[in-house]
Amino acid sequence: MDVFESHANSLIADAAVQDIWQRCLDRIQKRVTSLGFKTWFQPIVPVKLVEKDITIQVPSQFFYDWVDQHYNALIRETISSVLGEGAKLYYSIASEDVEPALREEERTLSQPTSNRYVSPAAPPAQPFFPPRTAFRQADQPIAQSNLNPRYTFENFIKGDSNQLARAAALAVGNNPGGTSFNPLVIYGGTGLGKTHLMHALGNHAIAIGKAKRVVYVSSEKFTIEFVESIQSDRVNEFSYFYRSVDLLIVDDIQFFSGKEKTQDNFFHTFNTLYQLGKQIVLSSDVPPKELKGLDERLISRFQSGLTADIQPPDLETRIAILRKKSEDNRFELPQDVVDFIATNVTSNIRELEGCLISLIARASLDNREITVELAREVLRMVVNESKSPINIDQIQHIVCEFFDIPEDLLRAKTRKQEVVNARQVAMYLSKELTNSSLKTIGLHFGGRDHSTVIHSCQTIHDRITSDAGFKQTVDQLRRRVEVGAH
Ligand code: ADP
Ligand code: MG
Repeated sequence: MDVFESHANSLIADAAVQDIWQRCLDRIQKRVTSLGFKTWFQPIVPVKLVEKDITIQVPSQFFYDWVDQHYNALIRETISSVLGEGAKLYYSIASEDVEPALREEERTLSQPTSNRYVSPAAPPAQPFFPPRTAFRQADQPIAQSNLNPRYTFENFIKGDSNQLARAAALAVGNNPGGTSFNPLVIYGGTGLGKTHLMHALGNHAIAIGKAKRVVYVSSEKFTIEFVESIQSDRVNEFSYFYRSVDLLIVDDIQFFSGKEKTQDNFFHTFNTLYQLGKQIVLSSDVPPKELKGLDERLISRFQSGLTADIQPPDLETRIAILRKKSEDNRFELPQDVVDFIATNVTSNIRELEGCLISLIARASLDNREITVELAREVLRMVVNESKSPINIDQIQHIVCEFFDIPEDLLRAKTRKQEVVNARQVAMYLSKELTNSSLKTIGLHFGGRDHSTVIHSCQTIHDRITSDAGFKQTVDQLRRRVEVGAH
C-alpha cells in the first residue's frame, strides 16, 4: 500500500467513525435533556473505529467519571444498536497536560467497557503488598505505587493559603532525599489539598526520573497491612518492602494514634529510609507536635525536617479553582455564579468541587440554565446542612443594618413606610431562609399574627417580580444572610 492509499484509507476510516458516532448522537439526543446533551455529548470526539470497536474521546477525567456514572448504559446500548452485536466501547481522555502519568491513564481507560463496566464484579483483589520478587531488583520500578495520575502540580491551583506547602512539595519532588526537607510534613484541615499535593510530588519525581520506587500509602492502609503481615507471618517481607523505596509517602498519620506496634514498625522504617538518604513525606490534620496518641520519638522525628501548613483557600483562590475546574470540563459558568459559590463555600476545596459537580448535575439533569438561583438551591442542599442554621434574629440584624433603622422598631407598632418595608423584607427572608413557622416568625416581630406574615411575604414577592431594582436589593440581603456577613 503506498502512502497515498494509506492516507486515503485513514480518511475513509475517519469518515466512518464520524458517521457512526453521528448516528449514535441522533439516537442519544432523543433520550436526554437538551442541556444534558449539550454538556455531556457534544464535547465527545469520536476518534477510532476498528471493526466494531469504537473509541471516543472525552475532555477530562471528571467528564469521564460523570459520563460513566450517568450515561454509560445509554451509550453502550446505543452503540450496540448502531454497530450491532459485539460492539465495544473504548474511552480515551484528552491529555491537556501531556504528561507520562496521564498517558498511562489513557491506556488503562482504553480497556473495552465490556471488560471494565458491564460486569459488576469487583476488580481482582490486589495483593496487599507485592510479592518478594516484585521488589527484588532495585532498578525496577514498583508496580504498585498507588499514585493517582490525576493529581499533578499543573492542576493544583496556587494561592496564598497553600503557597508554602506547594513550594516545599515541588522542591522535594524535584530532588527527593536531596533537600533538608526530610521528612516533609504537610498539615491542614480536611479537603484542602494535602493528598493532592503528595500524589503530585510522587508523580513528578517519577516523571523526571528522580525516583523509581515511590510508594503512597495511607496510615490506615499501612496499619492494616502490618497487622495482616503479622497474621500471615510475613512481617519481614512487609518491613523490607517499605524500607526499600526511594520515596515513601504516608497520608493522614494522625490515624497511627494509639497503634503502638504499628508506630514501632513505622519508626524503624522511618529510620532506615532516613539513614539511606531516602525521602519521606507525611501528612496530618494537625501540626506534628499536636498529634495525640503518638510516641514522642516519632513526633520528634517528624519535626526534624520541614513542616508546612495548608490553610483554607481565600476568595481569590476559590474563584480561580472554580474557573479552572469548570474550564477543564469545558463548562461555562457565568461570572455571577462563580462569585456566588466562591463567597458562600468557604470551608474547603472538596466542598467547592462538590458544589460545582452538583450544580452541573442539576442543570443538566433538570434541563435548567445555570443561574445564581439554581446555585443557591444546590448550595442549600450541599452546604447548609453542615452549617449552623440561619435564624430570625440574624436576619433582623442584617436587614436593619442595611436599611439603617433600629432593630426594636421591627417589633414596634410603628407604621412608618421605611420601617414597614424593612419589617416585610425581614419577614420574607425569615420565611425563605429558615424553617420557622409563620406563627414563630410573627412572634419575633412583636407578636404579629400569621396572616400579617403571609401578607408581608406576598407583598415582597409581588414587588420582587415587578421591580428589578428591588429584587437586587433583596438578593443582596439574602446573600449577606447566607454568608453570615454583617
Ligand atoms: P485533603 O487531603 O487535604 O483532605 P485533597 O487533596 O483530597 O484534600 O483535596 C480535595 C479535593 O480538592 C481534591 O479533589 C483536590 O484535587 C482538590 N484540590 C485541593 N486543593 C486544590 C488546589 N489548590 N487546586 C486544585 N484542586 C485542589
Ligand atoms: Mg487527604
